[in-house]
Amino acid sequence: SATPSDAPTIFDKIISKEIPSTVVYEDDKVLAFRDITPQGPVHILLIPKVRDGLTGLSKAEVRHIDILGRLLYTAKLVAKQEGLDEGFRIVINDGPQGCQSVYHIHVHLIGGRQMNWPPG
Ligand code: 5GP
Repeated sequence: SATPSDAPTIFDKIISKEIPSTVVYEDDKVLAFRDITPQGPVHILLIPKVRDGLTGLSKAEVRHIDILGRLLYTAKLVAKQEGLDEGFRIVINDGPQGCQSVYHIHVHLIGGRQMNWPPG
């Protein structure tokens, strides 16, 4: 896992398509693509196309409220698109203790299997 940083991340190259990914949803603000190490039958990452200082949720400012709402609303749309009618899980890892490894905020959408609580 990485140290918190403002350095560019691999997600910039995914946004620019320099690194290929399986995109499942895209609009002017949000990109959603399949996680390379899926933790379930469905595992999608939703990210803002412009990071704007939002390396993680702990860095959120009032100006980020719209994009934060859009990420969650888009997660719902993608869950529907993926057929996750029985439910799904949303995760945002933050910082070292949250196991965040990429410092460009992202919402994990995981589904297609029974989830358990609490997570490890
Ligand atoms: P975090 O641990 O920061 O919450 O989540 C980062 C996620 O990004 C991990 O689940 C990891 O598998 C995924 N990931 C890292 N590099 C790539 C990549 O190059 N392509 C894709 N599709 N996912 C990646």
